[in-house]
Amino acid sequence: MNTDTIVIVGAGQAGGWAAQTLRSEGFKGRIVLIGDEAHRPYERPPLSKAVLAGDAHADSTHLLKQDAFDRLDIDWRPKVAATRIDRPATQVHLSQGEPVRYDKLILCNGGRARRLEVPGADLPGVFTLRSIEDAMALGAALSANKRLLIVGGGWIGLEVAATARKKGLDVTVVEAMDRLCKRTVPPVISGYLHRLHSAHGVEVLLGTGVRALARAPGGGLSATLDDGRAIACDAVLVGIGLVANDALAREAGLACEGGVVVDSQCRSSDPDILAAGDVAAWHCEWAGRRMRLESWQNAQEQGIAAARAALGMAVNHQPLPWFWSDQYDVNLQIFGMPAPSHRVVVRGDPDSHVFVVFFLDQDKVVAALGPNCAKDLRFARRLIERRTSIDPERLADSRTPLAKL
Ligand code: ADP
Repeated sequence: MNTDTIVIVGAGQAGGWAAQTLRSEGFKGRIVLIGDEAHRPYERPPLSKAVLAGDAHADSTHLLKQDAFDRLDIDWRPKVAATRIDRPATQVHLSQGEPVRYDKLILCNGGRARRLEVPGADLPGVFTLRSIEDAMALGAALSANKRLLIVGGGWIGLEVAATARKKGLDVTVVEAMDRLCKRTVPPVISGYLHRLHSAHGVEVLLGTGVRALARAPGGGLSATLDDGRAIACDAVLVGIGLVANDALAREAGLACEGGVVVDSQCRSSDPDILAAGDVAAWHCEWAGRRMRLESWQNAQEQGIAAARAALGMAVNHQPLPWFWSDQYDVNLQIFGMPAPSHRVVVRGDPDSHVFVVFFLDQDKVVAALGPNCAKDLRFARRLIERRTSIDPERLADSRTPLAKL
């Protein structure tokens, strides 16, 4: 193997998995891991839950303990940003220090929280949530009896709503669309989530955005909604999605479309540059379209795949998408990519806290999701992966064990 130096830009979950996979696959060359955060690679899901609640220490999110990380013998550059890729010279320029030369470059530089473009969005007391520092800052603002306004009724917004309610805050969620999590789930699940949060005392306002934020005369903040209503609060969390950090790749002339375009071997339009995790956009066969997959599973698996591909191994990154969210005592999981064209079959009572929603394409289950039904979803996953033909009536009948199907 004539690959001497592999440079990884981004020391998050995908970057961390790429680095450790290079070593576990026997790579003996130099690994340079460049990350603008101060932390060694960590997982983000707990940041809106246990870490935010103060129930888990931020260090518990690290992929590897310090000694295991040290054993990887990585040239790790914390708090350093990659500023430019010079493809003719195969070098990455850095915010600090000499440029580093690469034989293969793996971009795992993820995304950033989308900012609210309204007056007052940068006032103290207005937060986004992406990093450990963000979780610490928001967590410090979450004290009992304070009023939290959440802009965006997606996953971040709803998980923070649940955490904040547990901590005794008054919570209002403002969602621009006509239902919660519209981007990712069908109406039956949006309705379930809405009832769940209402039952826990969250006020959910749909179909309106925030037009302006301002300091309130008596202290705290005041939000003016698109419909003119004013909401008084002590803190605001903006959870309106993620923007891929693809400028580095775009400025280097790589194909980008809302993310760095890669194939299922994680290769960009330059074969020596690969990408993985939140920044990468590839043709997902399960979805039938090119997309980025912002998930824990994808960060890990694509990071592993990119490392293997960089070493010249054959890979085909097409995992069945898997996503989960924890809110209150509910664990919701999604397998596959539900689409409006699919036939919906509900198994169990959608007014309860345990049911499964299946999505069928012709007579095949292509996606399944639901609250508190991990066991059923494990079977559903097999049905999806094996592309089993199914009788929808038996699927809907909770007296027929899924194992029998
Ligand atoms: P995240 O990971 O940040 O939760 P999602 O895409 O799951 O990302 O959810 C973001 C939510 O924010 C979506 O439901 C979207 O409709 C909503 N949204 C986007 N912009 C605004 C806005 N200006 N005001 C209110 N809601 C918004």
